[in-house]
Amino acid sequence: MNKTTRRTVIAGNWKMNKTPSEAEQLIGEILTAVSGKSTSGCEIVACVPYVDIDAAVKAAAGSVVKIGAENCHWAKSGAFTGEISADMLKACGVEYVIIGHSERRQYFGETDVTVNQRVKAALEAGLKVILCVGELLEQREQGITSEIVSLQTKIALMGINENQMSDIIIAYEPVWAIGTGKTATCEQADEVCGIIRNVIASLYSDKVAQATTIQYGGSMNAKNAKELLSMVNVDGGLIGGASLKAEDFAVIIEAAQ
Ligand code: PEP
Repeated sequence: MNKTTRRTVIAGNWKMNKTPSEAEQLIGEILTAVSGKSTSGCEIVACVPYVDIDAAVKAAAGSVVKIGAENCHWAKSGAFTGEISADMLKACGVEYVIIGHSERRQYFGETDVTVNQRVKAALEAGLKVILCVGELLEQREQGITSEIVSLQTKIALMGINENQMSDIIIAYEPVWAIGTGKTATCEQADEVCGIIRNVIASLYSDKVAQATTIQYGGSMNAKNAKELLSMVNVDGGLIGGASLKAEDFAVIIEAAQ
């Protein structure tokens, strides 16, 4: 197993936080916090609310920070009030999009099938995808984490070919660890990221599995990032709360070098 075959990606998920002017400010603070430090060891992404995209893209232009969105619809256009298409995001300068976040699954009826449709639409539009999978607490307690995460991964990747896999990052996010302050242990994170890698190997090849970036997400912060990121199967982080504090986000970026 060799981590150097894949890129490390540190991505922030701002969720429903920050107005456009606050977004501009936070991107500026992140750039200040990482300036003069080495960032070549990881890719840095900020996934922001739709209304912040324009301000964030402008604030991050020409810098090391790439801008992502937090979701997209699967249709190209049409009667889907309140939704945003992947083409619209691409036209706004977005490079990444989070798909299948547990909050979308939990509060907005997202299913494995609609996650798959959204992944396909995003890739077709030329976006890179951060695909979220993860088990609920009761599923972990029932001992079915591996089955749940494997199934989520397999359904989300239905119809996705080997070449398209280079534009997909998978984020293992145990639902019980998101926004709760409860972090998976390094061993738990590494084990499930390894299970996901084996699923990718079975669907595609060992080469694709070894090249796929698999992040951990769930209360990753400035204190625990280094240890989590040192695990062989953990290739980065998807970070909620701590990505809203520039200094903390910068420490996590530093830990990924
Ligand atoms: C997330 O929203 O993807 C996340 C991991 O949140 P937090 O870091 O706050 O747990």
